[in-house]
Amino acid sequence: MRYLLLSDAHSNLEALEACLELAQGKYDEALCLGDLVGYGPNPNEVIEVIKPLARVIIRGNHDKACSGVTDAADFNPLARMATEWTRQALTPEHCEFLRSLPSGPVMMEGFSIVHGSPLDEDQYIVGPGQALPLLRAPQTQTVFFGHTHFQGGFMVTPKGRFQSIHLPHASDGLVDTLSLENSARFLINPGSVGQPRDGDWRAGFAIFDQKKNVVEYYRTAYDLAITQQKMRKAGLPEPLFRRLEYGR
Ligand code: ZN
Repeated sequence: MRYLLLSDAHSNLEALEACLELAQGKYDEALCLGDLVGYGPNPNEVIEVIKPLARVIIRGNHDKACSGVTDAADFNPLARMATEWTRQALTPEHCEFLRSLPSGPVMMEGFSIVHGSPLDEDQYIVGPGQALPLLRAPQTQTVFFGHTHFQGGFMVTPKGRFQSIHLPHASDGLVDTLSLENSARFLINPGSVGQPRDGDWRAGFAIFDQKKNVVEYYRTAYDLAITQQKMRKAGLPEPLFRRLEYGR
């Protein structure tokens, strides 16, 4: 089985469509690690694409806040403004759909998926402080996570050494292939589809080929100007559409 891993699409339809175009024919099943909505201009349209596409969809913190499962009290002012905007924009059906999404972790066949961390769906795994305890006591060899919008992840090698997974800056398409050695442990972030924060503005995703036991990381350019125009027209805060071009 080849799994397409999509995370943090954040209502960015142009980025999502570019990812799906590049991924076409390369996967058997799609999984979504949450944050379908929040920040971007097309929450309903993104749900309409991901809902029928992905076999499993777990919720992210923005999905919860935008559908009223939680308030946005711990969000920064800009994220809160985007949450308010998204609440107004969502159809009642899509709001209900977001409310019904399960929290992670969800156990798949031999691996698991979470939004933030296996211990707390809202926790950010940003470095060894969070990653090491999780890698030392894993429930599955590989956990796929999102939430940080940083493509890559963390691993413990067969010799027990901790490593951040650093990816090369590559042209559009396949960025890197990671072989999941049996005696190693992995926390893998497929990257953010709709709002990367790792310094590369291009949309990110990953494909996990379970038979070959490899993860392929991908990046693709998309029509950013269209997304920014839509955000401007929607009255979303300028810093939120500016950050898209910096990948921060
Ligand atoms: Zn997110």
